[in-house]
Amino acid sequence: PKSRGETLTPVPSKLKFHSNIPFAELCDTFQAIEVTSSRLAITAICSKFLYSVLERDPESLVPITYLFIHKLGPDYEPGLELGLGESLLIKTISEACGKSIQQIRNKYREIGDLGEIAMQARNVQPTMFKPKPLTVGEVFNNLVSIAKSNGKDSQSRKGSLIKKMLTACKGYEAKFLIRSLESKLRIGLAEKTVLISVSKAILTHEHNGQEPSTEMVEQAESLIRDAFCQVPNYEMIINVALQYGIMNLNQHIKLRPGIPLQPMLAKPTKSISEVLDRFQGTKFTCEYKYDGERAQVHLCRDGSMKIYSRNGEDMTERYPEIDVKHYVKDLGATKSFIVDSEAVAWDQEQGKILPFQVLSTRKRKGVELKDVKVRVCLYAFDILCLNDEPLINKSFHERRQILLDTFNGTQGQFDFANELTTTNFDELQKYLDQSVKDSCEGLMVKMLEGEESHYEPSKRSRNWLKLKKDYLEGVGDSLDLVVLGAYYGRGKRTGTYGGFLLGCYNLDSEEFETCCKIGTGFSDEMLQDLYTKLKDTTVEHPSTNVIYDSSAPADVWFEPSMLFEVLTADLSLSPVYKAGFEAFGKGISLRFPRFVRIRDDKNVTDATSSDQVIEFYESQAHMK
Ligand code: ATP
Repeated sequence: PKSRGETLTPVPSKLKFHSNIPFAELCDTFQAIEVTSSRLAITAICSKFLYSVLERDPESLVPITYLFIHKLGPDYEPGLELGLGESLLIKTISEACGKSIQQIRNKYREIGDLGEIAMQARNVQPTMFKPKPLTVGEVFNNLVSIAKSNGKDSQSRKGSLIKKMLTACKGYEAKFLIRSLESKLRIGLAEKTVLISVSKAILTHEHNGQEPSTEMVEQAESLIRDAFCQVPNYEMIINVALQYGIMNLNQHIKLRPGIPLQPMLAKPTKSISEVLDRFQGTKFTCEYKYDGERAQVHLCRDGSMKIYSRNGEDMTERYPEIDVKHYVKDLGATKSFIVDSEAVAWDQEQGKILPFQVLSTRKRKGVELKDVKVRVCLYAFDILCLNDEPLINKSFHERRQILLDTFNGTQGQFDFANELTTTNFDELQKYLDQSVKDSCEGLMVKMLEGEESHYEPSKRSRNWLKLKKDYLEGVGDSLDLVVLGAYYGRGKRTGTYGGFLLGCYNLDSEEFETCCKIGTGFSDEMLQDLYTKLKDTTVEHPSTNVIYDSSAPADVWFEPSMLFEVLTADLSLSPVYKAGFEAFGKGISLRFPRFVRIRDDKNVTDATSSDQVIEFYESQAHMK
């Protein structure tokens, strides 16, 4: 590792790697992991392999790490999603392995794993000549080309690239190639285990083959995680770790304009007295909780502006009417920044905020200024970086002042979040009511001073509490649940799905756990629309990471892709559902769930987590 203190100029993602590590070695490792259940043993297999890679070819560590987590690059880099559909894969396997489509389909119905089918077909196929063995570099670069190929003929271009690779596959390669193309390795390998293994491999490499202590590995993994919250790009993090030493990551990886950091999140609360209890003896402040879409606004040194969604998706082109530079007080002095804000639909005639439903009528892609009918106003509530200097470790009080000093707020275009600092119960109650009259969802209550008021990227923090007026009666918040399956409609609902099986996401095991069946809150049009949207995502068998009760299966299963925002009266323990079952021996389920809307600004892994469901359940038990 180089000396401390050197500054880093991060490189943009390469997305093309020269790695001569045989793909077969990687697949043998996947196979060894698949047949192992202990997490410790999996970590040992994984880190041993990564260490041997590092010793031979450090550059291979990045593409291999990506293949381990079935990704091809950072989430904010567009066009890197694989997740290829069944039909293309079935057709390609049939062509490459000399079987009919029907044969592959029948087998798929029987065993539900295209990877296994491809491997079996490939391994009994006579080959005339010995193909050149696949390398990790070749496979990775081909996967990127496949993900990026779109437009006319893209299906056939994808098909021929896959076929070319399949005909070179031996041993376990076909199985894991197909599963990588589906974006699901199904080997029970969680991202956390990969990060621990990467940390262990790098530390062992740094210490010339000597195994590091468990504490050191844990510390290094937590440094990688912290770095990832600020710069969600494993390529940059691994390269910096290799260059400067993994323990020096935090000195070299800092948030920077142009790379979306993971936003800080809030915890729900159910009453003003709960808020007052939590913040007792501290300085806190309240803001309106605007009901729109999170917008992280970046001004980069080169003058370009970017707006990122809650997920880090680039949505700059969604808001062509917004030029934040226009509201900067001193453009000569302000070269770059990152501002956290909420984009809200704005009624220009009446000069007021419009409900979220109006915002969601806007086109999401290819929006041109002349087409903008519903205008957006950005409500800025935080500044995270100014002139390349990170501000997240300053107090919120200071950050708010910097925000006010840097921009001119302009009503209906770029404004500051409405705020009130008080500890008085009645004033808080009035302010909450006023926020709702002003078309907001309620309040965000935030720590104002001290270390606890620092901005915590990606954390769902108790230093930010959300108080949503509509949900005070229920569990305090709505839940965002993954649509895992559906039930055929009867009577009026014949021909569409009449109900859905929903689940939350367990961040530790990286599994979806069922938590309710829902059939309320849908209009007939919505059911029709959902049928159209979901029918193409049906799969013969639920994914192995869907945990459900086999005595209560769905009629059809989906590849998890959609989230429903759902309200519930309360939560109860149930033998049929699986949310949080490890904690209670039984699952937690939602009683009388009601559909609110589709959440399309979140990934399925951003669904309400099992831990959150447990917290909701426990806080309810506590209230009673
Ligand atoms: P979560 O983000 O907690 O998973 P969610 O996406 O459903 O849940 P909410 O529960 O509505 O979001 O609450 C947090 C969101 O509120 C933020 O992500 C942000 O988009 C929005 N928001 C509106 N006003 C503010 C504000 N003043 N400060 C912070 N966030 C705000």
